[in-house]
Amino acid sequence: MGKITIAVDGYSSCGKSTLSGDLARALGYSYIDTGAMYRAVTLHCMEQGIISPEKFSVESIIAELPKIKLEFHFSEDAGKSEIYLDGKNVENAIRSMKVASLVSKVSAVHEVRVTMVNLQREMGKKGGMVMDGRDIGTTVFPYAELKIFMTADVNVRIQRRKLEMETKGLHVTEEEVRNNIIQRDKDDTQRKESPLRKADDALVLDNSNLTRVQQLELALSWAKERM
Ligand code: C5P
Repeated sequence: MGKITIAVDGYSSCGKSTLSGDLARALGYSYIDTGAMYRAVTLHCMEQGIISPEKFSVESIIAELPKIKLEFHFSEDAGKSEIYLDGKNVENAIRSMKVASLVSKVSAVHEVRVTMVNLQREMGKKGGMVMDGRDIGTTVFPYAELKIFMTADVNVRIQRRKLEMETKGLHVTEEEVRNNIIQRDKDDTQRKESPLRKADDALVLDNSNLTRVQQLELALSWAKERM
């Protein structure tokens, strides 16, 4: 069977990474979490003192871009690729509330998007790739053979994100998670460049009432039709 490209887009905390990782494992494909890339750029700029809740310099972010080294390495323990920033595994550090509160602003910067999209296209050029994010089916791989647009009830998403953060030892209130998810969805859908939207040819997967196994079975059936 030929190897295809699978683009998974959708709102914050819909379970895109879970489904994408499961799909990649089932098909023997690679998986790239593009949200992790935007989060790592945000973390780097925070660590360099370029951005904070009080200050945000687009020029400084742009000047910093060539110095940022992003890599993915497969972790046997996690069973998926994890992100490295400047040689360090930052898979947990990028999930903090501080990063989450600044990432949508960073990801709206044109030069950041161009740099990330070029890297993503390079990583996916051989096919056999599941990539998740906000603009994969619309901008990164508009010719992907399968595009999935994920959505879920906002209360379900809040509970999932809170649990995910707690599992990683990050303590947050439900209110903080709710505010962040709602704000990011608003910023991501309303930004000028590559806003989050369903590609015309994407299939909608609402997983509010689906188990992990059920959503995988559905997505796998779509993938197999397209191979
Ligand atoms: O997927 P995740 O929630 O980790 O993404 C974090 C943020 O990165 C999103 O809220 C969005 O602002 C940005 N993002 C993006 N384009 C992508 C993936 C993520 O703008 N392809």
